[in-house]
Amino acid sequence: MLPRSTISLFLTALTASACTLTLHRPAAAQTKRPLTTIEAIESSQTPFDRAESELSESYYALYRIVERMARANDLDGHPWRVQILPEYVINAYSTEANLIGIQRGLLDQFPGDPSVVACIVGHEMAHHINRDAAILDARYAEGRAEIDALGDEIDNKERLELIEELSDRMQQLSRERELEADRFGYQAAVRAGFEAEGCLRGLNLLSRLEGSLRDSGSHPAVTTRIEAIETLIADEETNAAWIENGRRRLATTEPLSYKWSEEDEQLRIDSERGGSLLTWFEE
Ligand SMILES: [Zn+2]
Repeated sequence: MLPRSTISLFLTALTASACTLTLHRPAAAQTKRPLTTIEAIESSQTPFDRAESELSESYYALYRIVERMARANDLDGHPWRVQILPEYVINAYSTEANLIGIQRGLLDQFPGDPSVVACIVGHEMAHHINRDAAILDARYAEGRAEIDALGDEIDNKERLELIEELSDRMQQLSRERELEADRFGYQAAVRAGFEAEGCLRGLNLLSRLEGSLRDSGSHPAVTTRIEAIETLIADEETNAAWIENGRRRLATTEPLSYKWSEEDEQLRIDSERGGSLLTWFEE
């Protein structure tokens, strides 16, 4: 039941373009300077400088978005992992430990619009922080156990009716969690200084997809989601307080570093505590 959460509906898998990482080495590392000079240059680079020269354009943009969202919202207690998935579909996932998967098709629809991507990233962060997959799974298991415990007290027809009722309750719960993830994603993006309307632009694209205008088993109708975001946008005072709060946090914290894992083809954005088990021994 609902093994992973999706922000949107499947569109089409027409082409599967392979996702490759372009590594541009910093110029300093290619010239024959004395080692000490190279080290001095590298140590003066911020994580942003290094990321811009090392990562592909898409991963660099995602790093800046996730890093900013994490810091502005105080979500940097655990590392976030980001992966661009190669299928040309409009979708994003929250799977495994703090992994945010974004389909290439989704990025392609919003070139030059980081506010949309920030809203989607925030939505997937919410699923992780709210433990939605684990909660839905546990609730379903509890419900099934209660039905099974009735044993011979009920006949097969009654059992099937109870299972159907459980399924309806689970779908209702899933739709509620999706709306909460939208709310969280919106708030997180606004606090990080992204445009409030980015969430609306993302949802407007989804509203063009077949089936998006009615409730599905897991998601509310896109019209319901748009109305909820419009209500949030209308509260100007609260939005202004979030922006100010996020601005203060960004100004008083250091950029989070990152690591690119060639093996997993994943970007890992380090938490405030740093990125290595060995750091503890070096202090
Ligand atoms: Zn979702």
